[in-house]
Amino acid sequence: MKSYREYLSFNTRKRQEFINITPQVEEIIRKSGVKEGLVLVNPMHITASCFINDNESGLHQDFLDFLEKMVPYDVEKYRHNRTGEDNADSHIKRQLFGREVVAAITEGKLDFGTWEQIFYGEFDGMRKKRVLVKVIGE
Ligand code: ZN
Repeated sequence: MKSYREYLSFNTRKRQEFINITPQVEEIIRKSGVKEGLVLVNPMHITASCFINDNESGLHQDFLDFLEKMVPYDVEKYRHNRTGEDNADSHIKRQLFGREVVAAITEGKLDFGTWEQIFYGEFDGMRKKRVLVKVIGE
């Protein structure tokens, strides 16, 4: 079995941002040489998510509006912020959007439906963050 790993780095300009990382993941799969297998994509941080959805800017704003309504940024509101942090909302938003993506690789390509794309969801940005991409298979 082959195994290949790379890291993607991000330093977003905004506190919350969604970045389409499908092209980078496709390139890593190509480099891995794996034709039949799986790819795991996960942030190495607990205030960010990786998820699959549509690459449509209106929907992304709907996601952000939903998250802000459910879990507003508010330094005073959350117990976690009594530790001196201000990112309790970011931890909870990450729980709502999940940790990782696992996707099938068939004939060397992501085996996706028409509209599926992989996103990095940043909820506490403007600092250096990493995403692990690990490919396994034959
Ligand atoms: Zn925290």
